[in-house]
Amino acid sequence: MNKHFWNKVEILNIDDCWNWKCGCFTTGYGQYWSGATSVGAHRYAYEEYYNIKIPKGKMVCHKCDNPRCCNPNHLFLGNSSINMQDASNKGRLKQEPFYNCKQFSKEEIDTICSLFEENFSANYIGKRLKIDHKTAKKVYLNKNMYYKRAKEVSV
Ligand SMILES: [Zn+2]
Repeated sequence: MNKHFWNKVEILNIDDCWNWKCGCFTTGYGQYWSGATSVGAHRYAYEEYYNIKIPKGKMVCHKCDNPRCCNPNHLFLGNSSINMQDASNKGRLKQEPFYNCKQFSKEEIDTICSLFEENFSANYIGKRLKIDHKTAKKVYLNKNMYYKRAKEVSV
C-alpha cells in the first residue's frame, strides 16, 4: 500500500465516503501527483486497492456519486457510456440543453419508457408518439430529467 497516497484520503468506515483531502481537478475529482503525472485520486485508489491496472478506455465510476470519494468499495469500472447513463440516472448531467428540448407529460414519458422496455424500436415508438425517433430515444435515456421537467410543466 502506498502510504503517501492513503495519507491524503480520509479513511472512515467501509460504508462511508473516503474523501480526498488534497487538491481537486476542476471536475471535482481528487488530484494525485503520482511522481510523473497527476492522476484522478479515485482511479489511483482503485488501482492501488485492487492491485490492477485500469484497462484502456475504462473509467472508474462512483456508486456514491461523490467525485472526491476514494473508497474502493464505492468505485466500479465502467466505460464512458455507462458513466453517462449513470450520471443521467442520477440527474448529475448539466440540464441546460434540455431546456431547449420538447417537454412531455408524465404519461407520455411512461409510454415511451415502457415501449422501450418491451423492446419496441425507436422508429415505432417515435411514430406512435408522433415524435422523432431520436427524441424518443433521448427521452428514454434521460427519463429522470424528462420526468423532472414534466413535473415542472404540470404544476
Ligand atoms: Zn463514496
